[in-house]
Amino acid sequence: MTEFIPAARPIIGDEERAAVDAVLLSGMLAQGTEVAEFEREFSDVLLDGRAAVAVNSGTSGLHLGLLAAGVGPGDEVIVPSFTFAATANSVALTGATPVFADIEPDHFCLDPKDVARKITSRTVGIMPVHLYGHPADVAALGDLATEHGLGLFEDAAQAHGAAVDGRKVGTFGTFGMFSLYPTKNMTSGEGGMVSTGDPEVERRLRLLRNQGMEKQYENELVGFNARMTNIHAAIGRVQLRKVLGWTATRQRNAAFLDANLEGVKTPLVGPGITHVYHQYTIRVTDDRDGFAAALREEFNIGSGVYYPIPNHRLPSFNLVCDLPETERASREVLSLPVHPSLSEDDLERIVTAVNSLAKAGS
Ligand SMILES: *Cc1c(COP(=O)(O)O)cnc(C)c1O
Repeated sequence: MTEFIPAARPIIGDEERAAVDAVLLSGMLAQGTEVAEFEREFSDVLLDGRAAVAVNSGTSGLHLGLLAAGVGPGDEVIVPSFTFAATANSVALTGATPVFADIEPDHFCLDPKDVARKITSRTVGIMPVHLYGHPADVAALGDLATEHGLGLFEDAAQAHGAAVDGRKVGTFGTFGMFSLYPTKNMTSGEGGMVSTGDPEVERRLRLLRNQGMEKQYENELVGFNARMTNIHAAIGRVQLRKVLGWTATRQRNAAFLDANLEGVKTPLVGPGITHVYHQYTIRVTDDRDGFAAALREEFNIGSGVYYPIPNHRLPSFNLVCDLPETERASREVLSLPVHPSLSEDDLERIVTAVNSLAKAGS
């Protein structure tokens, strides 16, 4: 039997282990110099110098970002339903109401036309997700936000280094959030990084993650403990030195799949877009789940469905919404392995398997 090809595989090497060991030896385990250095380096490498604030998870990053931007009870924030639950959860956790809008079918991101229809007098912000590593339409969404006086909040959890005409995601909104969970394009174990160009939002983020304290025991507001540890930051700093190389490999892997897959709808990339391929997502219009099962059982290849249940239909929200493209995507999407540890042989195997299943199904 051939070796199993997993859908994702975090790359942790000797350098990450040595960096953790150095922190353990130092005895300075909690948030300290490693975290401050990680923030500075993240800003340099991935944010063209925009400020970065490290927190203990991507979800905390969204939650604190929204609170720092002043979102709270009575407010509405427009979000996609076709995303990970943390997007809408973070809005609900502030006491505001997430309002679900549909996606556009080409890139699976918020559809500005449907967002425009969902704006009410209570809307305070729009939170696009740069899903799978492809930027949402920040130009059209930014115009809508400006026109209606709304905040633009970027869920860039899957999009480290993605860009529009060379401008990186996380630099368009009031804030942007990058997840550092192990399956994301880079990791710190658990963690999140929040970007912002607004010094007031940055200050509130720093207060909110640390019990509302800037000076010890002089708490200015009611905050959380959402700090990143030096241990996690040390892993993140090593990964940050590698993420651009890994992204280039993801892009090469995606180009190989684009050129060789037949009979399935491969991912589209908009003009001027830098796609970082957190996922390489095809559409399988007929029996997607059977296709995925055959990939695993007949060819020993993993794949993923992100996401099988739109957020509005999860038991946690349980809403009736008319989001036809969201429903269609949740039935059709299938993410193939594209991660940087794939070998040429793995890529050939994926092409052979997908093409033969697509041919058999057509
Ligand atoms: C991973 C993810 C999050 C949450 O990040 P965590 O670090 O797991 O808390 C939020 N939004 C999207 C789109 C994600 O993929």
